[in-house]
Amino acid sequence: MNDKSKIEKPVNVLIVGVGGQGVIMVSKVLALLCQTHGFEVKQSEVHGMAKRGGGVFSHIRFGPKVWSPTIPKGKADILLALEWAEAMRWLDHLKPGGTFIADTQRIVPPFACRNRKRGAERNYSRETPAEIIDKVKNGYALDAEGMAMTLGNRRVANTILLGVLSTALDFSPESWQAVIEKFVPPHTIETNAQAFQEGRSWTANAVKPLPVVSEAPSAESIDITTELTINTVWCKGCDICVKMCPERCLALNEDQEAVLIHPDKCTGCRICEWLCPDYAIKLHKRPNSQTEGTGAGV
Ligand code: SF4
Ligand code: SF4
Repeated sequence: MNDKSKIEKPVNVLIVGVGGQGVIMVSKVLALLCQTHGFEVKQSEVHGMAKRGGGVFSHIRFGPKVWSPTIPKGKADILLALEWAEAMRWLDHLKPGGTFIADTQRIVPPFACRNRKRGAERNYSRETPAEIIDKVKNGYALDAEGMAMTLGNRRVANTILLGVLSTALDFSPESWQAVIEKFVPPHTIETNAQAFQEGRSWTANAVKPLPVVSEAPSAESIDITTELTINTVWCKGCDICVKMCPERCLALNEDQEAVLIHPDKCTGCRICEWLCPDYAIKLHKRPNSQTEGTGAGV
């Protein structure tokens, strides 16, 4: 249990990611946890203007007394990033000696495409986790989403990161779990408990420096097949993807469901996937050597 008397000045935790990842849920868990331990908590966030995929951040400050809700540059005790490029963008807010925790997941915005050719180079952060971990005093970079997938639910990646975060703050694992349970769907409580423990165990075994995560292969070196799947049950026929597809690959059928009418023209830019408000479109990319079957592959 965190001893309130031991904290004399506010602790600053900056949580960053992109829209749809759960930055706000993570910050609410931390804020409630701090409140239940009697701390004054100030939370400020920017998410209202962030469309799916846009930057989202939340400043959490807790302590015996907190005046300002925002964390100045270079003053964050902990930077928790749910996405790699956002981690890089906010790195200057971490104070020297602060704790850096980041998911190595890369969500490349479609507008990072430098041109509309399939597999074109993306304008995206090139720093590797190993390079960054070498620069910070306490650094953790992990494939939380990959770990979540092995638990059968990619959405528990945030809880894995909370598990890592829990090792940097002096609250008991039980009090973390009790608060997390309040924010997750009842049928996922068990998986979230596993995910939280997974994050804690990973941290205990984390080796520094981390192995260099291999860079994504260059566009020239890969022969990619993209496959677009549309979940017609979730599609409400809003027409956004049809209107926004730069290649005019999509159309609404007579049942007002989106369909891929020109798979040969699809560049895999992901604009439809990102803009669909109902998460009905999913783009899968894989090297041709791994391609099996046909589907809507292009
Ligand atoms: S169908 Fe989607 S991924 Fe393909 S070109 Fe159109 S917007 Fe891009
Ligand atoms: S954006 Fe999504 S919901 Fe709207 S038509 Fe396209 S697939 Fe359907």
